[in-house]
Amino acid sequence: MAHYLDELNDVQRAAVTTIEGPVLVIAGPGSGKTRVLTYRVAYVLEQGIEPWRVLALTFTNKAAREMTERIERVVGPRARYVWAGTFHSIFARILRAEAGKIGYPSSFSIYDTDDTVSLLRSIIKEMSLDPQQYNPNAIRSRISLAKSNLLTPPLYRANDQMMEQDRQARRPFTADIYERYVTRCKRAGAMDFDDLLLQMHHLLRNHPDVADKYRERFRYLHVDEFQDTNFLQYAILHLLAKYPGSPENLFAVGDDAQSIYAFRGATIDNILDFSKDFPQLKTFKLEQNYRSTAHIVAAANEIIAHNSRQLPKKIWTARSDSHKIRLLRCMTDDDEARRVVDLIVEQKNRLHLRNGDIAILYRTNAQSRKFEEQLRRQNLPYRVFGGLSFYQRKEVKDLLAYLRLTVNPYDEEALARIINYPARGISDATLTKIRQHAAANNQPLWDAMLTADLPERARKAVLNFRALVESWQRRAHKESAYQLASDIYRQSGLLDELKSERGTEEGLSRLQNANAVLDAISEFTDNASKLPLNEESGETPDASLAAYLQTVTLLTDADMASDSPDYITLMSAHAAKGLEFRSVFITGMEEMLFPSFFALENPGGLDEERRLFYVAVTRAKELLTISFAGVRYRNGRLAESAPSRFLGEIDREHYENLGGIGSRRASAEPISRVASPAASRASVSGNFSSPQPHQSRTQPTAPPADFKPSPPEAVAPGVRVRHLKFGEGVVRSVEGARENRVASIAFQGDEIPERRLVLRFAKLMVLD
Ligand code: ATP
Ligand code: MG
Repeated sequence: MAHYLDELNDVQRAAVTTIEGPVLVIAGPGSGKTRVLTYRVAYVLEQGIEPWRVLALTFTNKAAREMTERIERVVGPRARYVWAGTFHSIFARILRAEAGKIGYPSSFSIYDTDDTVSLLRSIIKEMSLDPQQYNPNAIRSRISLAKSNLLTPPLYRANDQMMEQDRQARRPFTADIYERYVTRCKRAGAMDFDDLLLQMHHLLRNHPDVADKYRERFRYLHVDEFQDTNFLQYAILHLLAKYPGSPENLFAVGDDAQSIYAFRGATIDNILDFSKDFPQLKTFKLEQNYRSTAHIVAAANEIIAHNSRQLPKKIWTARSDSHKIRLLRCMTDDDEARRVVDLIVEQKNRLHLRNGDIAILYRTNAQSRKFEEQLRRQNLPYRVFGGLSFYQRKEVKDLLAYLRLTVNPYDEEALARIINYPARGISDATLTKIRQHAAANNQPLWDAMLTADLPERARKAVLNFRALVESWQRRAHKESAYQLASDIYRQSGLLDELKSERGTEEGLSRLQNANAVLDAISEFTDNASKLPLNEESGETPDASLAAYLQTVTLLTDADMASDSPDYITLMSAHAAKGLEFRSVFITGMEEMLFPSFFALENPGGLDEERRLFYVAVTRAKELLTISFAGVRYRNGRLAESAPSRFLGEIDREHYENLGGIGSRRASAEPISRVASPAASRASVSGNFSSPQPHQSRTQPTAPPADFKPSPPEAVAPGVRVRHLKFGEGVVRSVEGARENRVASIAFQGDEIPERRLVLRFAKLMVLD
């Protein structure tokens, strides 16, 4: 039954079969990290370990599901009892079981970003602060930052740096808002996304009995995409895996070069800390890329060699042949969408690609619209991930708010959302009175509904509504989630309200969306009932409405993918992490877009954008097309754009038909005249090369007669070299072996202190 081990190379197999002690697999894209993690879980189960002792943390819930299915094929249905999911969903599950310990109801609500912003908005208003100055979104990120660094409100206040930053940002009352926000969430029995991590950390740290229980339970911990775990996530893993007598069975796979969530606090330090914190750590490096063909792998290596801070890694592919990278230089964003979709049609016909083999990636979700229009015109099925996700639509959120209120009456965001929707005679003025009463008496809204002093009619309306919700609450523990949810849908008046709008296409789609929530609940209860009581662990499957609600709030965009139909995927480069497609289109490769404007303004931003581009490129198995437009609508204005500097970091030998593009230099000239000097340097109008600080762009770059490239072996630390574009420099260091030797070179007068060049491609002449 161990034949799956034959599907691994030697190093992969060694990693999979090392099941005791801490293990780190650090390797480039497409090298089989996720496969290794999956098979390792299967291997652990095959050794007779009980499945609920195995925890597997993945980047999306969908990835967890796929992993479980895969493992099931090897070890059978036992695989379903493995605890697999995202950090957030697994922690929500544990917190639900232990909620009483930290003063939350087990049916606690999870506030999504909208709920958080809406609550912050009301707090800012109550405090009579200026919402322009105290922008609720900015405050939200600030609170999120604080929580991710374990700064509770008192610690925040005591933190001079945070307080000083707030003063400088002219938001001196941020700490007060934070404190109120925490109190209000607590009173509402609600946790936001950061709380799921923070409370999990508190739970393990402050309740030794609980910590022992989960340490005893999870003997085998696994983490995919380890490079994107943040400080707090790592701290929790540490609490679970590091204690006296621990087997330290923490198995992590990742690639520092693909770390793309620094803005969310993910830190490469975790990878470095791992070996410090777990001195027994065994590290495996995988070097073969099984995903992509040669030009794609080579281009990826060249791109990432421009980043200075990364762990040295080599990656090669046995997949030779290979199509070169196709570049589409487009006039406008409309032109780009048209040409991308035309090329998709051509690839489908010529190479027999299915829709599911194809992905269009972009830097910002707003870029999807033009592609959608073209795909619709060509009648090609597609699916957009990201953007406004299903569970963020108004009608869906309305229905969910009713359900949330039923399981947790103190959920104030849910209550405020639907107390008078559909209209039931509870005016804004009435709600304001209830709110004021609640604030004055430090009461939850739900309780204030009973005691607030209201005019007779309003009072009646409020009490009627309350009685209706209570009638559902009484049923919540007895009935199936589906039965109850359908009654709530009808009795709340929501169904009628939506039905009355179905005359328009939009109205109809709203009704269908709300109906789809009921379908999802039905599926959820069916699935839960299929899982029998697990006699060994004594766990009962949880089919309650509360369990369902906690699941949906934590679905990521990628989780919305349905498996069967064949569609073209549209998503941001961020969302594409871990995925692979035969043909990938990376679009909008322009300065200020990719790299983004924001990244250019921030230290370290450019490296992070480069890693993101690296992630995007390495999603492609066979075909990679990169497009950019000379003019594009941005922030409502038509703006000229220059090709991304990243294009110049790929050697021209990997591009198809560059000659043709070069000869059209004249027509491209206006594109290169953009404001940013760095951008114009990177303009492809001159040459597909790295930025050229010292060379006039109008000069063609034919090698001068006296330039003779030296063999790569001749390039060694200390030697002086000449490069056609960067001029003279001194080699500081050389890393890697054979095909993957990379030299760090300091060129005279260069704006970048050291450039990293892949010797296989860089043409260098040794001068001494
Ligand atoms: P990423 O960094 O992008 O997440 P990864 O390292 O997780 O990539 P996988 O997705 O596990 O890589 O593997 C990439 C592809 O290579 C998959 O299609 C996988 O099935 C295949 N693969 C991995 N290892 C092998 C192998 N030993 N033999 C054949 N195919 C393999
Ligand atoms: Mg992976």
